Formats: sequence, C-alpha cells, structure tokens
Amino acid sequence: MSDVYPNLLSPIKVGQTELKNRVLMGSMHTGLEEATNGYARMGTFYAERARGGVALLVTGGVSPNAQGKLGLGEGERAFPDCAEKHRTVTNAVRAEGGKILLQLLHAGRYSKQPDLVAPSAIRASINKFVPHELNGDEIGQTIEDFATATVRATEVGYDGVELMGSEGYLVSEFLCPRTNKREDEWGGVWENRKRFFIEIVRRTREITGPAPILMARVSIIDLVEGGMTGAEIIDLAKSLEGAGADILNSGIGWHEAQIPTIMHSVPRNAFVWATRRINQAVSIPVIASNRINTPERAEEIIAAGDADMVSMARPFLADSNFVNKAATGRADEINTCIACNQACLDNIFSGRIATCLVNPRACRETELNIEIAGKPRRYAVVGGGPGGVAAAVTLAERGHAVSLFEAEDRLGGQFNMAQAVPGKADYRETTRYFSATLNRLEVEVHLSMRVTVGDLVDGKFDGVILATGVVPRKMEIEGAERANVLSYIDVFAARKPVGKRVAIIGAGGIGFDVAEFLTQMYEPGNLVHDSDIAGFLTEWGVDQGLTEPGGVSRNRHVMRSARDITLCQRSEARFGRTLGKSTSWAIRAALQMKGVKFLGGVAYCRIDADGLHVQIGNEERLVEADTVVVCAGQEPLRDLKDGLESAGVPVHLIGGADGSAELDAQRAIDQAVRLAARI
Ligand code: NAP
Ligand code: SF4
Repeated sequence: MSDVYPNLLSPIKVGQTELKNRVLMGSMHTGLEEATNGYARMGTFYAERARGGVALLVTGGVSPNAQGKLGLGEGERAFPDCAEKHRTVTNAVRAEGGKILLQLLHAGRYSKQPDLVAPSAIRASINKFVPHELNGDEIGQTIEDFATATVRATEVGYDGVELMGSEGYLVSEFLCPRTNKREDEWGGVWENRKRFFIEIVRRTREITGPAPILMARVSIIDLVEGGMTGAEIIDLAKSLEGAGADILNSGIGWHEAQIPTIMHSVPRNAFVWATRRINQAVSIPVIASNRINTPERAEEIIAAGDADMVSMARPFLADSNFVNKAATGRADEINTCIACNQACLDNIFSGRIATCLVNPRACRETELNIEIAGKPRRYAVVGGGPGGVAAAVTLAERGHAVSLFEAEDRLGGQFNMAQAVPGKADYRETTRYFSATLNRLEVEVHLSMRVTVGDLVDGKFDGVILATGVVPRKMEIEGAERANVLSYIDVFAARKPVGKRVAIIGAGGIGFDVAEFLTQMYEPGNLVHDSDIAGFLTEWGVDQGLTEPGGVSRNRHVMRSARDITLCQRSEARFGRTLGKSTSWAIRAALQMKGVKFLGGVAYCRIDADGLHVQIGNEERLVEADTVVVCAGQEPLRDLKDGLESAGVPVHLIGGADGSAELDAQRAIDQAVRLAARI
C-alpha cells in the first residue's frame, strides 16, 4: 500500500483487468482527432499521460456509425472506418505500460451534421438541424454498430470501451421523456426508455465475451427538465450491471443544461453525492467525476467509499505527470487545473485544438518540447506574474541560470487578484505550483525588488525577459480623479472600501470579476462559494433528492447582492462577449440572479458625488453610485525596455508588457513558454 494517498493509489480489478491505481483520465475531445497528423499526435498525447501514472485512459468520443458523428468537420471519422489508424494510439499507450478505452459516443440530436438521428424528431436548442426519428430497424442496427465497433476497438488494441450514455447524446435521448416521445417498445414507460442502453451493453457483451472492459457512462443527474428521476437512475445502474457492464462512470448534466457543471464556479467535488447514490446500489466499481482536481480531494472520495475510482480529465491537460508526482510525495509540484475552460473547452467550441492555459504543451507534445540548451546562459526575468514565472521555470528547466525579480512581496501578479473572485480560489494553485517548481529548480527569486536598468546591465545577464505586465487604463473624463473613483486594483489588491451603490465602467473579464466580487453579502475576500457545495446546489436549483425529473428544483435560493451594482459598457453588443464561450452564459446568469444591472451603449460624461453620468442616445442619465470602479482595460508597462536596449542587453517582451490588447493569462503563459523553449 502506498504511504501517500493509500486509497487512491491502491489497485483495483475491473472486469477481468487489474488496474494499478484508482485514477482514470476521463474522455475529452481535444480536436487532435480531426487534425493533420492527428493520430500520431494523439498517440504522443495519451502516451505521455500513461507514462505519468494514470491507470486507465479514455479517448475522446468516436461514433460507432456515420450518423452519430459529432459533425466537427471533414477530418472526423466514424469508428469502423478509422479503426486501423487507432493502432498508432494504442501502440503508443501500450509501450508505456498503459491501458486505454475507446469512448463510443453517438451524438444523436447533438450532431452538427445534417444526417442526424434521434428517438424522436425534436431539435435540440443548441443545434440548427432537426433529427430524423429512428425506426425499429435502424435502432437495431445502431445497437449492432455499438457492438461491432467494440469488437473492432479490441482488435486494434483497446482494452475495452466506454459506452457514452449521458450528457444528452443519443443514449440519454432514449432514456428521457424530454426527447423520447415514442409509443413503441423503445419509448413511453421507463422499461421501454431504458431498453436501448441496456440492449447496447447486453449485445456488446454477448459478442465480445468477458475480456474487454465495458464501461457505461451513466447520467447521475441530467440537470434538465424532463430528465430521469433518481429512482430511474438507480434502476438503470442496476440494469447495466445485470446486462454485463464492468464499471459505471458518472456523467453530469446535458449540454443544454442551464446549470454549470465543470467551470470554476462549481465547487470541487460538487456532484460526488450523486455518484454515491449509484455506488450504494451496485456491486461493480463506480467512478466519480467533475471538478476533482487534486490528489487530496480524490483520495477523500475513495476513502469515504463514495466511489471506487476517480475520473479527472482537464487535470491531465494541466499536468501529464499528476499521478507520479502525487505518488512520490510531490503533490505541491502538480500544475493544477483551475477550471477556467479558456484553452480547452473554449478552443474546442471555436474549432481549435484544445490546450491548457497553465500548460501550453498540452496537445502540442510533438511540437513544443523543453530541451536542454546547447549553451547555458544567464537570464533575468522581470515580473513574477503568470508569464514571468512560466518563462523562469522553462528557462531553468533548459539549464539556464535564472534570476526572477518581482516588485510585490509575492509571486502571482494578476492571479493574486483573480483568486479573490468567488469561485476562482483555485487560481492560487497556479502560483503554488510555479513557486514550488522555481524552488526545485533553484531559481533565484527576488521579491519586493523593483529593478532598475542599472541592476540588469554591465554583463550581469545575457538577456532580459520583461514580463512587467500592465497598468490600468485611466479614464479621461471629468471627475475621474475623485476619491469615490477606484481602479480594480484598489478593489482587489488594496481592498479600499466600496459603497453600497456601485457603477462599474467596462464589462470585460475584469469588469465581470469585480461585479462578482462585489455582489458578496460578506466582507470582500470571504470566499463563500469555493467550498460551499450546498450553497452552490441550492442557488442553481439542483434537487439533491432527485425527486424532480432531471434533478432540477423549482426552489432556488439565490443570495441577492448586498450592493446595488450597475455594469456599464460603451458597446451595444451582448454583455460578456469577450468572456469564454463555455462560461460566459453562467457568469452572466449568476450576476443577473443576484440583481446586477447591465447598461450598454453608454457614453461616459462625468463622475460626481451623485455617481456616474452617462449618455444613452440623446438622453443623459445618472447611474447613482457611491463608488465608481474603472475596469476599462490596460496599457502595457515596459518602461525598462528602452534603457536596456540602449545598453545593448537583448530584451524580450512577453504578456501584457508586449501588448495589452486581448491580453489574458493564456497568451502570457503560452508566449513565455514558447520564448523560453526557443532562446
Ligand atoms: P478588456 O476585456 O479589454 O475589457 C475592457 C473593457 O473596458 C472593454 O469591454 C471596453 O468596453 C471598456 N473600455 C476600453 N477602453 C475604454 C475606455 N477608454 N473608456 C471606457 N471603457 C473602455 O480588459 P479587462 O477586462 O481589463 O481584461 C483583461 C484581460 O483579462 C482580457 O483579455 C480578459 O479576457 C482577461 N480576463 C478574462 C476573464 C474571464 O474570462 N472570466 C476574467 C478576467 C480577465 P466598451 O468599449 O464596450 O466600453
Ligand atoms: Fe483546466 Fe483551464 Fe487548463 Fe482547461 S485551460 S485544463 S480548465 S487550467
């Protein structure tokens, strides 16, 4: 038994397969599936995670037939056609001693291609295509397609399959009255609605025999009206066990659900209680999922008997070596997923290959490698924000001697402000990871030191990386210098008092963050939601008793904002358009629930003791406010650049110092790592 995380790291038998620990890398669509040279890249990506200690990996979803494709473009192939290509993936994982399942996912009415099918011809709210209603023969053929795809998967080296039965895809659509209006043996009463999933498992087991792992992904809560009841979910779990499933995985929420399930505002381990329900009902192993991002929280789940395994997906984008680090007592060196979705899901939603904000190498393993430098040099990195620390770590990993200078008394930069926002406490994990890694790599870190050009010249360094960040943009309007006007730094960092009535100028990411921060009933800094699972569930109307179909409760308890807040922007476009695609709807909804007002299309006139005077069209209006907070973007801070260049020191600008337009931590870290990998 392992000394650290003894439950998480203990072996487990799944069907006929022995797994070395309880950690599953859950299925994620990365976009490599459709990319040029995608199979080789996938092989490298998964092999790195297998080498990192994960016991069992699951691929992104692959359809068992052409109609079930997600519809992600020309490169997407249904499984029987692309089976041989998958040997590249399975061989790479096996070479590392790993085990991997193919996820078979039939997209049903979520498919973005016109030849889509579903139990009933009902269009999904998130799709423009109306599905064709499957007839009895087509249903039989689809079941057969799942079974034969599984056989092919094992022939090309997979250890089994995960049969996707949640998230609102085809199997879910059969299970739920919301989307299944059939009157034949595949619809109507529960026994009929569950038949499709049970038949897929039964038929698949029949033709594969006992050897391959059959994992069934069960929706433990649908989070949409017209979903399954709690009793149906328990019965489904038992029936899947009876039909031959070896293990059950937890699926949470349909894609059209209006309740967040994985983003930062969801507390860690928020849905483990729903996994516990089915774990108590079956004797096969059950896997917990969603917002589990540290070995400590994963260990708690197994130790408490809530689940037998833990699935993490994004945490393995953030750190491929998560399990090995945990197993060797180096958990403080794990680069933790902060649930921002910015580089993974948001990339996928905009047709790009996923990567990770805190680890730009994710899904770039074949092109972005950190190699020992041919000639070690001495570098100074100025600025200890996300870009600066990432540059310092990468340079030190390459064998360069690095000195890092930070003007504040701690590392973190803008992340130190972000972590004050409710739901963003995980951002401090990034600073913890970089600090621990800088320490291990023996980087000289100088805190509370505002360097001058003189500190960096005269041959002390072979090059300087300026990661000095940004300064808030000042407003050029009458009253901007008044005492009742604050910058976002005054609010987050200096914690200056903020009145009851607040006008926020600028509705970018930081304007939204400030609004969220100021809605708190409590004193700023009291991170009410970060571990308050019950508060999160009641606020979003999750029925923990699962008596309501789909687990959506009508009894929501929303904490209204203690402050009267108006968020302003000059643009007439939708508020939150610059936030991430996968999170903006929930961030906007959370503020609306709390009573924050949105005022768009404004021209700013002046600020006085009464508040913010704006013009909308021809009408002048007063936004009554005790405090006006300016979140109008930033300007680059790079005042050392000219002096260093005059002294002949090679200078590299990264992050906000390079350019503040469309700056975010993703760009800063990516730029930092790529630069440091190159110079
Ligand atoms: P930002 O996204 O550029 O937003 C600044 C806002 O200020 C704009 O929406 C703009 O809206 C307004 N503005 C610009 N110039 C102005 C001026 N001269 N006078 C008045 N208003 C002006 O910048 P940010 O909010 O400071 O965020 C910085 C970066 O961090 C962004 O890239 C952001 O995406 C990222 N970030 C993201 C998140 C998140 O995704 N949740 C959170 C925090 C930060 P109008 O022109 O319409 O008025
Ligand atoms: Fe996690 Fe953000 Fe990285 Fe996605 S981009 S894996 S959410 S840290």
